Amino acid sequence: MINSQDFRRYAHEFVDWMADYLESVEKLPVKSQVSPGEIYRQIPDNPPDEGEPMDKIFRDFQEIILPGMTHWQSPNYFAYFTANSSYPSVLAEMLTSTLAAQCMVWETSPAAAELEEKVLNWLRDMIGLPEMFEGVIQDTASTATLVALLTAREKNTSYRINETGFQANNYFRIYCSSEAHSSIEKGVKMAGFGRRALVKVECDESLAIRPESLIKCIQEDISNGFRPLCVVAALGTTGTLAIDPLQPLADICREYDLWLHVDAAFAGTVLVLPEHRWMIEGIEQVDSFVFNPHKWMFTNFDCSAYFVKDTEALVLTFEILPEYLKTGTRGKVKDYRDWGVQLGRRFRALKLWFVIRDYGVEGIRRKVQDHITWARELGEQIRSEPGFELLDPQHLSLVCFRYRPNAANSPEDINAANMALMQKLNDSGRIYLTHTRVSGLVTLRMVIAQTHVTREHVQAAWKLIRETALETKT
Ligand SMILES: *Cc1c(COP(=O)(O)O)cnc(C)c1O
Repeated sequence: MINSQDFRRYAHEFVDWMADYLESVEKLPVKSQVSPGEIYRQIPDNPPDEGEPMDKIFRDFQEIILPGMTHWQSPNYFAYFTANSSYPSVLAEMLTSTLAAQCMVWETSPAAAELEEKVLNWLRDMIGLPEMFEGVIQDTASTATLVALLTAREKNTSYRINETGFQANNYFRIYCSSEAHSSIEKGVKMAGFGRRALVKVECDESLAIRPESLIKCIQEDISNGFRPLCVVAALGTTGTLAIDPLQPLADICREYDLWLHVDAAFAGTVLVLPEHRWMIEGIEQVDSFVFNPHKWMFTNFDCSAYFVKDTEALVLTFEILPEYLKTGTRGKVKDYRDWGVQLGRRFRALKLWFVIRDYGVEGIRRKVQDHITWARELGEQIRSEPGFELLDPQHLSLVCFRYRPNAANSPEDINAANMALMQKLNDSGRIYLTHTRVSGLVTLRMVIAQTHVTREHVQAAWKLIRETALETKT
């Protein structure tokens, strides 16, 4: 076992490794090139009886583990959505793991609770949410959406399902668009509504929810004896970053007295730029809102910012302490244990604080703006490139496109060509991108949002895509 002296020495060595890694990560194959079982087979079946030297452990990390890692911090990473970190965030994570505090209630680390409150107020103001919202850090957007569904359920039933469980007449309905993230369906299942309680409402050509279709679904459900409970709006769907029209949804929710939850997991960060705040017109009527600084705001996973208007309903839903066990500070301070699913909580506000202070709000804005600019430039290039088509409308920092060398190709040919192109690109290790389907057609997605991406990386990626497409011509 290493002691304090060794710890100091290795920590310095590791920090050098970390800096070298981040400086040179763009040269590594972005997507791990190993095959299934390759890493598993290299790890002994039994743990060591006696401790092993740290040198050996570290060597194995480099030799066995690293080849099996996909490099999310590579500037050539364009897949899924980004899971960004940044230098200030990593520094803060080092401190957080050293303190290793359990920040479940105020008394177990007052600074963690009070910094969380303050930094989430900063964040709320940075993205233009009104002051009626209060924030709390959740582990993921999936959890935040589950929390929203449970709170909506409890508030609607005067906190009765928490007491008695579901009764025969609890035929709730929850609505989202057919393009909404799978975490909503998962949340609906976990909250006990049953998968069939989720109504996926049809979308328009831009893949945003159709408000008229939503009204129709709600009215039909009411006449069939169901209880409409909640609408989940997507600000930036996962497939194409389509934006649901918030104001019409807010009006519908007001009319039918429904909880309105906004899932802005990736795109929420863009609201630091005031010109994008048209997306949250109607926000005063929203009940809860989640976005992930751990996606686009340069803060290590996990850090999901959940904002809610009725914090009393939230706490009544999750509170676990009986009255007689309440601490002396209860009511005067925030005990975040009661603001979500987890009891134990990491000190996650620290990294957010470091990031916001190191970048400054303007620094974050500049980076986000650059990403959008480079995505637009790339979109224009794709639009004017013969054999390629751009998916319109293009949203924010995502570019959706497909290779279509011959307009007469059948959908099957187009899909096969694009899957082959993607595979070849990802196997090259030089870039990593993923796909979605739009109206049945395979569509490639490039997310231009990595912390260290530059215009040159985007342009090099486009050059590679064009050249590779020519080689795979159908
Ligand atoms: C990524 C994403 C999620 C899930 O986020 P987690 O934090 O991983 O749970 C949910 N909704 C949307 C729109 C997303 O893009």
